[in-house]
Amino acid sequence: MAAAVSAASSGARVGIVDENPSLGGQIWRGEGANVPHSREASDWLAHVKTAGVTEFRGKRVFHQPEPGVLLAEGVDDLCELNYGALVLATGARERFLPFPGWTLPNVVGAGGLQALVKAGLPIRGKRVVVAGTGPLLLAVASYLRKHGAGIPLICEQTSWSKLARFGVTLLSQPEKIAQTLRIKKEMAGVRFFANAWPLNAQGKNNLEAVNISRAGKSETIECDYLACGFHLVPNIEMPVLLGCQIRCGYVKVDDFQQTTVERVYCAGEPAGIGGVDLALVEGQIAGLAATGQLSEAKTLFHKRDKLRRFARALEDAFRLRSELRTLPSSDTLVCRCEDVSYSRLQEHTSWRSAKLYTRCGMGPCQGRVCGPATQFLFKWNPDSVRPPVFPARVEHLAVTPAPQQSIPAVTGGLQ
Ligand SMILES: Cc1cc2nc3c(=O)[nH]c(=O)nc-3n(C[C@H](O)[C@H](O)[C@H](O)COP(=O)(O)OP(=O)(O)OC[C@H]3O[C@@H](n4cnc5c(N)ncnc54)[C@H](O)[C@@H]3O)c2cc1C
Repeated sequence: MAAAVSAASSGARVGIVDENPSLGGQIWRGEGANVPHSREASDWLAHVKTAGVTEFRGKRVFHQPEPGVLLAEGVDDLCELNYGALVLATGARERFLPFPGWTLPNVVGAGGLQALVKAGLPIRGKRVVVAGTGPLLLAVASYLRKHGAGIPLICEQTSWSKLARFGVTLLSQPEKIAQTLRIKKEMAGVRFFANAWPLNAQGKNNLEAVNISRAGKSETIECDYLACGFHLVPNIEMPVLLGCQIRCGYVKVDDFQQTTVERVYCAGEPAGIGGVDLALVEGQIAGLAATGQLSEAKTLFHKRDKLRRFARALEDAFRLRSELRTLPSSDTLVCRCEDVSYSRLQEHTSWRSAKLYTRCGMGPCQGRVCGPATQFLFKWNPDSVRPPVFPARVEHLAVTPAPQQSIPAVTGGLQ
């Protein structure tokens, strides 16, 4: 939205394509229906309307058959979108790490549970243990508590010393301090453990309890939900498909958020996990630069660079500890689309070999869940991305012009 509004200020014809039926990304998309819009969300949505931006909602981009042309699929239609410049702002997803019992019903992603509640899932009176790592845990716990859930415990895998260092970084970001104090107040009385993580989830048909490790000791806590997420993974599949260079796991961009591909810009989480404030300012810079408003874009560099310091501190503070590599047991499923267990993966030395011999990463999520998990567990590097980048209907693939790059038959199969 920030990129679109800034680009439209040049008089350019601008469109937003979002696979969600409502705009607003991960934070604001569910607001309006069950939750009133926050002031900031209302302002951005109003800016989009007044800027005259065309909205293509509920359309998922799955392929670029040639530079300057994107294909997006809706519920029952296919759009061909031609662009002069493109800003990729594909966001991030949660990282899941496998542990015994993580596939039980009611063990869910932390952000995933929040999204379900935003979509209407009743949570009042339910006991939710929140575990994993990153600031999202607190944001989710506070959201769920406001909606009537009980939070017996928050488990954060990082150490108190890393949290303290992160706290010092916040001192240079007054708005983040205010946010932290607000959440601290909202979470009064909730137990928060650092150096703690889930060892296993227990239950017959549904989750009944979670066993956690805390400073070397284990403790069992009864609960209805385990909301679990180990920070975020950038959605870089689309930029990779378009040929953008990746550096240290993120899309490489220059000062103007331009990628290594001409006319293609990138903003928000794919360029570095830094939260909504950084995503907004990067979006503004990308939108301005994509429409030639370079001097206006430059005025935002200082603000962005300050927020990037916060992003680096986030990365340091919530880096995964090595003990988490020992969580899966031999029969723990790592790829849940294709039912591939940890012991079957241990026989392989690369992501490609595991894919070829076990079908790990070849199910409907196309490695979006097990890829980051195996990257952490086995230090494997993910493969190249091939079109279609999301599952698409056969009838739409049939009208798709032949892709520029050839599809190696050996790992093929339509998504
Ligand atoms: C599950 C989850 C919950 C979160 N909750 C919070 C929270 O409560 N508070 C908080 O401060 N931060 C939260 N975050 C962090 C949040 O992602 C960022 O701070 C912020 O939303 C980043 O903005 P963005 O524009 O980079 O990405 P996003 O807000 O994720 O926006 C990316 C958009 O791109 C769209 N998209 C992606 N690929 C395609 C495609 N191929 N075709 C069409 N559309 C596409 C998505 O539908 C989405 O709307 C959450 C993150 C996740 C993953």
